[in-house]
Amino acid sequence: MRLCRFDAGAGPRPGIVRDGHVVDRDNPADQHPLDEVRLLAPTQPRKFLAIGLNYGDHIAESGIDAPEYPVFFNKQVTCVVGPDDDVHMPRVSTLLDFEGELAIVIGTRCRHVPEDRAHEVIAGYTITNDVSVRDWQLRTPTMTIGKSFDTHGPLGPWIVTGDELGDPHQLGLKTYVNGELRQNGSTSEMIYNCFQQIAHLSAAFTLEPGDVIATGTPAGIGAARQPFPDGLLKVGDEVRIAIDGIGELRNTVVEEPQRYLAPEVHVEAAWVR
Ligand code: MG
Repeated sequence: MRLCRFDAGAGPRPGIVRDGHVVDRDNPADQHPLDEVRLLAPTQPRKFLAIGLNYGDHIAESGIDAPEYPVFFNKQVTCVVGPDDDVHMPRVSTLLDFEGELAIVIGTRCRHVPEDRAHEVIAGYTITNDVSVRDWQLRTPTMTIGKSFDTHGPLGPWIVTGDELGDPHQLGLKTYVNGELRQNGSTSEMIYNCFQQIAHLSAAFTLEPGDVIATGTPAGIGAARQPFPDGLLKVGDEVRIAIDGIGELRNTVVEEPQRYLAPEVHVEAAWVR
């Protein structure tokens, strides 16, 4: 089953994608051709976790030693956008990069999940672009700020349930920038597989329905291309990530809109009161 969120003009609705149509999950009589609705991020997570350095070839291109333990960081959930949404080139940096990744979506509130039962707590799988602002990312050990700029967490186009997807560790993963193949990996190359990641995280804290775990990226990130920084993203670039059995996630880079400027006038007014 393919689970989505969509807007057919009446606001966000939960849907099922089937035979080129979207069916409203709460009102199956309500159906729309897929190309006549706007697909939204298929989940609105309360936690958006991501593992770094989880593919050997990506560790090699990063020029650092393999970590002794899984390296998890947070992406702030305000960074989530949907398929075909814009990704902002920050006002404060031009070192914008892409990372195509398989994303786990949690389906069941859980804690202390053993590896061999992790599949029971997974709602399904989707695609994410772990968009990264490299200078902001590398300034601090937590990486959080450089991984969390608004619009830097595209998710979609939908969630494919585990029973339909099959083995999540045998999926080809390709990332294209303006049609050029930049990442060509397989989820079989993960160092810590999906189930091990859930076991590790849930040893520490509760995972909840809708939470997202980005499972790492293979080699080919923009920052690794020489000469630096030619491989990084520019305004107008289209990033398309394709994962076998799921589909494609496509987003375009635009200048950060002026409407996001802080409203200084309102701040002054607040001080006066
Ligand atoms: Mg990543």
